[in-house]
Amino acid sequence: MEILGIRIPTIVADNKAARCDGCLEVIEGTPWRVNILDVVAAEKPVSWAEHAAINPGPFQFHGDPAHVRGWMAGKGYLFCRKGQVREIMRPVAIALASGEDRLGLCDGIHQDAHEFVRA
Ligand SMILES: [Zn+2]
Ligand SMILES: [Zn+2]
Repeated sequence: MEILGIRIPTIVADNKAARCDGCLEVIEGTPWRVNILDVVAAEKPVSWAEHAAINPGPFQFHGDPAHVRGWMAGKGYLFCRKGQVREIMRPVAIALASGEDRLGLCDGIHQDAHEFVRA
């Protein structure tokens, strides 16, 4: 930029650097933002504690689904292989056979039953 004929070099990129929630590296350009919606009604009531555990984001990533899935895996979320990683993911409460509760993330676009796998 230039003010009254004097060039003022400003460093913009470093100040605005966003980091990827997946690989923790700096993101060049526009980050890919992912939001998580509220938990949809499950067959059983979701307890307050489970509900409060979700941070809806937005989370920022490089423009590569692998980085988002890496982040999901780190959080212990399952991923529905019938969907894709999109800007808005819907969480589904899943009761595993072990009795453990997990959250699965799905884009919610397909009509048939979810197929959750490790992200
Ligand atoms: Zn990344
Ligand atoms: Zn699904």
